Amino acid sequence: MPPPPPPPPLPLLLLASLAAVAAGPGCPLGRGRAGECHGPSAADSATCVDPQLRTCSDVAYNHTAFPTLLGLRSREAVEASSEYILLSVLHHLLEGQCNPDLRLLGCAVLAPRCGDGRVHRPCRHVCEDLREACQPAFDAIDMAWPYFLDCGSYFASVEEGCHDPLEKLRGGLDAEEVLPSGLPPTFIQFTHHSYAQMVRVLRRTAARCAHIAKTYSIGRSFNGKELLVIEFSARPGQHELMEPEVKLIGNIHGNEVAGREMLIYLAQYLCSEYLLGSPRIQRLLNTTRIHLLPSMNPDGYEVAAAEGAGYNGWTSGRQNAQNLDLNRNFPDLTSEYYRLEASGSIRSSRIPIPQHYWWGKVAPETKAIIKWMRTTPFVLSASLHGGDLVVSYPFDLSKHSQEEKFSPTPDEKMFKLLARAYADVHPMMMDRSENRCGGNFLKRGSIINGADWYSFTGGMSDFNYLHSNCFEITVELGCVKFPPEEALYTIWQHNKEPLLNFVEMVHRGIKGVVMDKFGKPVKNARILVKGIRHDITTAPDGDYWRLLPPGSHIVIAQAPGYSKVIKKVTIPARMKRAGRVDFILQPLGTGPKKFLLGPRRSGSAVRDPLGGASPYGEPQEPLGARRQPSAGGSKPWWWSYFTSISQHKPRWLLKY
Ligand SMILES: [Zn+2]
Repeated sequence: MPPPPPPPPLPLLLLASLAAVAAGPGCPLGRGRAGECHGPSAADSATCVDPQLRTCSDVAYNHTAFPTLLGLRSREAVEASSEYILLSVLHHLLEGQCNPDLRLLGCAVLAPRCGDGRVHRPCRHVCEDLREACQPAFDAIDMAWPYFLDCGSYFASVEEGCHDPLEKLRGGLDAEEVLPSGLPPTFIQFTHHSYAQMVRVLRRTAARCAHIAKTYSIGRSFNGKELLVIEFSARPGQHELMEPEVKLIGNIHGNEVAGREMLIYLAQYLCSEYLLGSPRIQRLLNTTRIHLLPSMNPDGYEVAAAEGAGYNGWTSGRQNAQNLDLNRNFPDLTSEYYRLEASGSIRSSRIPIPQHYWWGKVAPETKAIIKWMRTTPFVLSASLHGGDLVVSYPFDLSKHSQEEKFSPTPDEKMFKLLARAYADVHPMMMDRSENRCGGNFLKRGSIINGADWYSFTGGMSDFNYLHSNCFEITVELGCVKFPPEEALYTIWQHNKEPLLNFVEMVHRGIKGVVMDKFGKPVKNARILVKGIRHDITTAPDGDYWRLLPPGSHIVIAQAPGYSKVIKKVTIPARMKRAGRVDFILQPLGTGPKKFLLGPRRSGSAVRDPLGGASPYGEPQEPLGARRQPSAGGSKPWWWSYFTSISQHKPRWLLKY
C-alpha cells in the first residue's frame, strides 16, 4: 500500500476550498480535526462512476469518483467550477499550445481516475514536464499557473502508483484501435506510423473533416504503395479562383522519418483546430489550399523502419525500392539555366524537361510528383528532411562546378524570407546554447543557400523553381534521421508553429487575374517583375500568384497576341495578405498604345486592399510577443471569459 500523500500547503488548500465553496454549498472536501477541508487520499475507498464530462471525454480511463481531488462532490459541481471552465477554454486562451495534454492533465485532477475501488492520482513527473513546457504559454498571456496543476499537491510519484494521464498520446502503436467512438478530434498520437496506420489516420481525418479535407493518391511507389495526399481547403477537391496552393512533402528520403510524422500530426491538427473554431486555422483553410504528402518514399520507409528507431546507419532506406535517391532523380534544369544565363539574357520560367531525361531511370515516385506539379498550380512548397538542423533554399546546384558556393536564384530575397519564416520561429534553430549536429548554421540564422552548403544535381527544389511557379524550400528537422518515439512530441512542438508560419507565407506578395477585354481569362500569360529575372505564368483560370518581398515593384503582364500592361505596386512591410492586382490585356493593334499603363490607383489598392481590416492585415507574431502584460492594475484580456460565463471569479489565475 503506498503511503498517503503529504497534505497540500496551506495557501493551496485555501484556494482549493475557495473554489470548492464557489462551486457548491458547505465544505464538500470533508473536514479535518481543525475544521479544515481536505480532499480524498489515494488510500480512501471510493465508488467508481462514469464521469460524463464533455471536456474530459477523451481521458484514458472510464471511471472517476466523487468527491474529486479538489473536493467537488458531483458532476454538476465539477461542471460549474471555474477550474473546469478554465480547462474548457484553455485551448483558446493558449491558442492551441499545450493542447490536449494540459487539458488531460487537468482532467486527471478534476475527474481523477478511479479503479479497484480507489482513486488513482496522476503522475508528478508528467505534471513537472508539462509545467516546464507550458509555463511560457501562460506567461505570454499573463496568467498564473493554475493552482490545481501544482505538481507538488495533487499528483503522486511512480512509487505511489501514479498513472500517466497522457499515456494514450504516447500510446502503443495500435492504441488507436481501442479508442472509444465519438472521441474529440483533438486526439493526436505522437507515435511512429506504419504505412497502414498512416493511411488509416489520413483517411479517418478526412472523414472527420469531410467538409474541408479529402485524401487522394498522386500515384504509386515502385512497390505499389499509394502516394497518399490529404488536402485541406474550404472546397476540397477543386482549385478555386485565386486561392493559392501549398504542398508539404515528407519522407522523400525513406530513413528521414520526422517529416512524415509531422505531416500526419499536422493533418490531424488542422482538422481539429478548424472544428474547434480556431480563428487562425479557419482563416488559413478558408483562404488556402494545403496538400500534405507525408511520405513520398513509403518503400524506403519500410526498409528503415524494419531496422527501427535508434538504428544509427545513415543511408539504409534512404533510396526508393529501385535504389534511386529521389532527391537526385528530378530533371537537372539548373545546369540548363546556368548555360542559358551564360549565353545571354534569360528570364527563367518554366524551363522544359529535356527529352534525354526520360531516357534515364526515372522513379515512379518522381514521375508522380512531376505530374502532380503539372495539374496543380502550386505556389509554395517545403520538403522535410532529417540529419541536420537548418532550412536551405535554392539553388541546390552550385553555379561554380566542383565548388560549393553561394548560388542564388533571382528570387534570393524572397527565398530568404521564406526560409526565415520557418527558422525564426523554431526554438532549436534559434537556440544559441544548442549543440548542433554537423555544420553549425546558427550564425547564419539557421538558413542557407543549398549550393553554399553542398551542391548536387537533380534536386526537387531547383526543379520546382525552374519548371513551375512553385517556390520550394528544404527543411532539415534535426540531427537524428529516425528519432525515438519519445522524441516525436517535442519535435512536433518545435515545428508546429514554423510549419504554420511558413504556409501562411503563401499570402505574401500579389495575386490576381489576367483577362482579355471581354473578361475571358488568359492562361499562360507571363507575370514579370522588373529586377527579378524569373517569371510566373497564369493558371488555366487566368489567375496567378507572385510571391514578392515588401517594397515597390514594377509588374508587367504579357501574353502572345496582346499588348503588355505595366503596373507599379507597393507592398508594405507588414502586409500579410496578397494584394490583388488584375490585368486586362488588349489585343495587339487595337489598343491605344503598345504599352498600356494600368490604372494609377493600382498601387494604392495593394497598399491597403481592405481598408486595413484584412484577415492577414494583422501581424501574426509567435506566442510570447502576442500580448503585453496588463498595466496599471487592469485585468488581463481573458478575464472577461470567466466573468461572463460564471459568477465565480478565479482570482488564482491573476498574477498581480
Ligand atoms: Zn534528406
